[in-house]
Amino acid sequence: MTADSELTELTDWQRELRVHFPIITAHPEMAYLDSAATSQKPRAVLDAVQTYLTTTNANAGRGSYPWANHTTALVERTRQRVKEFLGDPEPGRSRVHFTSGTTEGLRTVARDWLPGHLADGDEILVPFADHRANLDPWLEAQRLLARQGVTVHLRELPYQEPSGDYDHRALAGVIGPRTRFVAVTHIHHVYGGDMNVQRIRDAVGPHVPICLDAAQSIGHLPVSVDRLDVDFVVFSGHKALALPGSGAVWARNASERGPEFRPGGWNGTPNTVGITSLEAALDWLDAAGTDRIARWTTALTARLTEGLRRLLPYEILGCQASLAVGSTVQRRHGIVTFRHRDIPSDDLGFILYDHGFMVRADNLCQAGTDKRDGSVRVSVHVYNTVEEIDRLLTVLATLE
Ligand code: PMP
Repeated sequence: MTADSELTELTDWQRELRVHFPIITAHPEMAYLDSAATSQKPRAVLDAVQTYLTTTNANAGRGSYPWANHTTALVERTRQRVKEFLGDPEPGRSRVHFTSGTTEGLRTVARDWLPGHLADGDEILVPFADHRANLDPWLEAQRLLARQGVTVHLRELPYQEPSGDYDHRALAGVIGPRTRFVAVTHIHHVYGGDMNVQRIRDAVGPHVPICLDAAQSIGHLPVSVDRLDVDFVVFSGHKALALPGSGAVWARNASERGPEFRPGGWNGTPNTVGITSLEAALDWLDAAGTDRIARWTTALTARLTEGLRRLLPYEILGCQASLAVGSTVQRRHGIVTFRHRDIPSDDLGFILYDHGFMVRADNLCQAGTDKRDGSVRVSVHVYNTVEEIDRLLTVLATLE
């Protein structure tokens, strides 16, 4: 199926869903194209928050009166909801720990679980050009262990230029008998490509725990831990239609792959409003269908990529050749990042805003880069339209 026929088939479905987003319909003159930074929220999420705060707001796990009991039940129910949303085949064994987002989630794995799993001389495989959130915590864990006299080696998960995929062929050279842990990203926040987690699993074998940064996949495409053989899935609610400050770590707790993930200690009051919003967002996403959301956003990005490729001054970052809908090599999910040959990316960001487009323009928090590596990132969600993409291409063409 081509991108255009995909878009035609889903047009009515998308039109109905777009009106669920009050901020989008209130600003028809603006195109919000920065969903990889944070998503907009459907009315159902806003209503759930309003209802919670005006009917049963209380602390969780502390009171014995109905509002408190309701809140405690809400937190536990949402834990189960996250497992269900992820297609968890063993919800009795796994664990969901709420965090403020992906950054805190990855740090929790690095701080509360990883050190107890590593011995002197062990190696962990981490990506050096993913989001900083997926590098800094592993460096911190290494430093923490070093202070205890335990030396852990960080091996770089190699990248393939210019596709932005992990270099699966070079992987064999960095995996060894002491490889004890791998951190990977599901959908790359700059290149937009699916990072082929299954191929990483095949390369490292069945016994090495894998932690998946799913910040750009949860809420954008179906994510099933029944199919993805990983041990941790970490995500941010705010990128998946819920409120900022809501996120989670899902841990498989497969005993053969290390100790149980049980973040210990006193966690304090949970973000019950965020958790309320997360439950409503997951319900909304399931009702809309993450498979259809993925088809829509993938087709929009394919259209944008194809259009950009015809405009000479632009260089697209990441995979060029396999962007088409239906590609089995490496699909681009909802993100297209590019540069103009002559216009600095910061300037391009301002120019696009003047034309009604909100995009991201800087180094995109990518580890190992700085401001000089600036680019413009366009990222879409279910509320974005074909008309917005075509309008953007028209404006970009005038800047040749
Ligand atoms: N990982 C990836 C791939 C991301 O895109 C982001 C957010 N841009 C993060 C981690 C960090 O997410 P948060 O800021 O919600 O903690």
